[in-house]
Amino acid sequence: MTALQANLDKLEEAIASACRAAGRPRGEVELMAVSKTFPAPAILEAASLGLTLFGENRVQEFASKAAALEPIRAATKYHLIGHLQSNKAARAAELFDGVDSLDSVRLAERLHDAAAKSAKRLPVLVEIKLSPEETKTGLEPDSEELARLLELLPGLAGLHMCGLMTIAPWGAPETQTRACFRSLRASRDRWAAAHPRLHFDVLSMGMSGDFALAIAEGATRIRVGTALFGKRAPEPR
Ligand SMILES: *Cc1c(COP(=O)(O)O)cnc(C)c1O
Repeated sequence: MTALQANLDKLEEAIASACRAAGRPRGEVELMAVSKTFPAPAILEAASLGLTLFGENRVQEFASKAAALEPIRAATKYHLIGHLQSNKAARAAELFDGVDSLDSVRLAERLHDAAAKSAKRLPVLVEIKLSPEETKTGLEPDSEELARLLELLPGLAGLHMCGLMTIAPWGAPETQTRACFRSLRASRDRWAAAHPRLHFDVLSMGMSGDFALAIAEGATRIRVGTALFGKRAPEPR
C-alpha cells in the first residue's frame, strides 16, 4: 500500500466517524484533495484511488501541471482556492472548473467577462473572512463590498454562485474554530434568505487539522491537503 492510500484510508475513517458523531450521512460531505505544491503524479495517483475534486492555490502552478493531467482531465475537477488577482482572472476562468476564493466585485466582473466569452458558467464560492488575522483573504461578513457582490451575482450569467468558503484562524483553540464555522453557517442562512436567486448549498470549511469540527458545524465540502499528501515544502512568496 502506498503512503497516499494509507493516508486516504485513515482520512476516510475519520470523516466517517465525524459524520456519524454529527448524525450526518457521509454523502453530505465532499472531499476536496488540496494538491497545491504537489506534482502532477501525486494527482494522478490520487485520481486512481477515486478522488475527483482537487484544490490548487496558484494559477501558474496549476497551468504547469495541466498537460500531465490530460489523461484524467475529463474525470476530475480542479478548483482555485487561493487568492486570485483580477489580472489573472481570464486565465483562471479558462483553466479551472471553479473558483472557490471569490473575494471582490472587481474579480467577479473579470471572471464573468472571461467565462461569458467562452459561453462558460463558472462555479464560484464567495470567500468570507471570519478571523481577524491580517493575512487571511476573503470578504468581511458585514462589509459593503460583500453586500454589493451578493446584489450583483444574480446578474452575472458567466458565474454560478454555489456557496461560501472560509479558512479558520490558524492554530486557534477548538472553541474559536468551531465558533468560526458556526458563524459561516449562520451567515449563509441569513444571506440565503435575503438572496433567493442565489444558491448557497456549498459550505467549504475545514482542513486537515479541523475538518471534524467543520463537519459537526455543517460543512458540505472539506479541503484536505497535508493529511492526504503529507507535509508541504514551505511556499515561496
Ligand atoms: C492549503 C489549503 C488547504 C489545505 O490545508 P491542509 O492543512 O494541508 O489540509 C485548505 N484550504 C486552503 C484555502 C488552502 O490554501
